[in-house]
Amino acid sequence: MNDCLFCKIGAGQIKSDVVYEDQRVMAFRDLTPKAPVHILIIPKKHIERVSAVTEPDFGIFADLHRAAQHVAKSQNVFESGFRLITNNGKDAGQTVNHLHYHLLGGKAMTWSPV
Ligand code: AMP
Ligand code: ZN
Repeated sequence: MNDCLFCKIGAGQIKSDVVYEDQRVMAFRDLTPKAPVHILIIPKKHIERVSAVTEPDFGIFADLHRAAQHVAKSQNVFESGFRLITNNGKDAGQTVNHLHYHLLGGKAMTWSPV
């Protein structure tokens, strides 16, 4: 029994505000947005984090970045700029253990991650 929140969102079992979907990827609005545009981009397959990706699955990075371009265009931040962030593990503050990218934009951001 898979009890992963993002697996359930990816399968449509838990409702989310979906902005992009294809066979392998889903993108939906973050529940507590940190910027005017704050979208989470996930693989539908359960992979815990970047460091858990293994050889047969490296294509997922192409899928996620392709989706990020689509989302950036549809959310009108493709030209103005956006940030793609993935938190990997405890020290990075990862709270949901299913690989995801945050796509943030819609305002000028400063850079101080620590
Ligand atoms: P991270 O801290 O990098 O693991 O990011 C997890 C993100 O998931 C946080 O920004 C949360 O606001 C977001 N989140 C948690 N539950 C949901 C949900 N049901 N729908 C959308 N976003 C969520
Ligand atoms: Zn999962």
